[in-house]
Amino acid sequence: MRYDEEDLLPLSGVQHLVFCERQAALIHAEGMWADNALTVEGSHRHKRVHDDAPRRERRRDLMIVRGLSLCSFELGLSGVADVVEFRRLVSSEQPDEGRLPLGVQLLGVSGLWIPFPVEYKRGRPKPHRADEVQLCAQALCMEEMLGAQVADGALFYGKEQRRMGVTFAPELRALTREAANRLHELIRTGETPAAVKDKKCRSCSLASRCLPEAASRRGSVKSFVASEIDRMLCPERADS
Ligand code: SF4
Repeated sequence: MRYDEEDLLPLSGVQHLVFCERQAALIHAEGMWADNALTVEGSHRHKRVHDDAPRRERRRDLMIVRGLSLCSFELGLSGVADVVEFRRLVSSEQPDEGRLPLGVQLLGVSGLWIPFPVEYKRGRPKPHRADEVQLCAQALCMEEMLGAQVADGALFYGKEQRRMGVTFAPELRALTREAANRLHELIRTGETPAAVKDKKCRSCSLASRCLPEAASRRGSVKSFVASEIDRMLCPERADS
């Protein structure tokens, strides 16, 4: 299936979806967004990547491009890559049969260059695969736009100041396509999945509006609010 331009969704949506389907629906279908300390730090980090460095930089056999616009009509996604490194193809290696060519030509420079996306993240590597899926979606966009293989990339984590390599293996590609399909399905149906209280809710910027506590308790939001008021008025009852 190929999407039309007006149906493209933000590429970051697949990251939200793998983190929590409800979060993806609240942000991308209901237009809800709330910053918390973590998202503010994350957007400052992205701003530094985009604003404090030249858009294009050459270091011998490495070309660095920042803020590259991406889209895929197959996934129905569009967005911006923090950094794409293009490494000069030095061998005469040929792609396996049926695979895309290795390397692309870049304007104003000779030779072929292999694209390698790098996404900057605050914090540390996480137990879920949301960041890997976001990076893989960038790789799939690039393959569609450039007509060349994007086999690997990296996630840079601010807390640890290190890169974690990511290989775009068939199962990660399948997971990414599945996430893009599900994101479109949520938007098409207008369905917002119910909250499921989980450890991840602690780092979610929407926790104060999603009320996962309320949804995961038996009964309605009304009874949750009533019990919260009761707890505030009579804290000793809550401690018992
Ligand atoms: S608070 Fe929890 S359930 Fe609600 S959107 Fe965030 S992660 Fe999902």
